[in-house]
Amino acid sequence: LVENAIDAGATRVTVEIQNGGMTLIRILDNGCGMAPEDARTAFLRHATSKIRNKDDLAAISTLGFRGEALAAISAVSRIDLLTKAADTPGVSLHLEAGQITQESPAGCPEGTTILVRDLFYNTPARMKFMKSDQAEASAVFLAVQQQALAHPEISFRFLKDGVEQLHTSGDGDRRAAIYQILGRQLVNDMVPVESRWEKISVSGFVTKPTATRGNRAWQSFFVNNRYIKSRLLSAAVEEAYRNQIMVGRFPACVLEIDMPVQAVDVNVHPAKTEVKFL
Ligand code: ADP
Ligand code: MG
Repeated sequence: LVENAIDAGATRVTVEIQNGGMTLIRILDNGCGMAPEDARTAFLRHATSKIRNKDDLAAISTLGFRGEALAAISAVSRIDLLTKAADTPGVSLHLEAGQITQESPAGCPEGTTILVRDLFYNTPARMKFMKSDQAEASAVFLAVQQQALAHPEISFRFLKDGVEQLHTSGDGDRRAAIYQILGRQLVNDMVPVESRWEKISVSGFVTKPTATRGNRAWQSFFVNNRYIKSRLLSAAVEEAYRNQIMVGRFPACVLEIDMPVQAVDVNVHPAKTEVKFL
């Protein structure tokens, strides 16, 4: 849902959860919003506005085009959507288990607010796989932090059970974002890096060899502005530190890799967090 807000061109995104997101997830953005007809269509499986022609399939610059998020989430929750695009009236939709049960015109500023309530209320077997509220809240928080690191140009707010946990300035400065997200200590332990090879560029921050971590939690990679997990990239970074840091210690990094969109396949993984490099 946060990726949808980013794709919609939002400059401010607020994420709020209650009880680890199990009772409520609220995402508010100031992006382009949807016309009423598009809002109704958006919940259908495979509905997407992000492909216009077949060439788009090979050159995806948005964060997704599977058209599955809204369909999948709405099938297992109760949703309230409030959205308004420029030039069209605002609309409010209520969905239960994927079906629109109420629709009304709504006055609201341009952008989208989506409320997801009672996740998995109609799929108790699936609900059993959820971890404690605390663990789920941490997972959501980490996801928001990674998006905030990937997008220093967007101001992110995260609230957990009514308490603000994160608020980034969105002024476009990656170092400021790292400071706001990871804290002063880590920023002071990091140095900027920058490199370019043919059409591939790498830039960001890495820890000094003297300031390592006990795990890989803060190895963040962004490929064309998308947060990804990559054992390949972790191994590459660690290789660069070989003989400089102790076994069992890991560098932290926030690295942005930009490459032609044709050189990377982002749709190999359902959550699109793993990619395949040409
Ligand atoms: P996808 O993002 O892969 O297209 P989704 O199911 O996530 O599929 O969303 C379906 C469509 O709904 C999107 O293509 C987009 O047009 C619209 N949409 C979803 N969220 C937003 C949002 N926050 N702002 C504007 N449009 C949105
Ligand atoms: Mg999406």
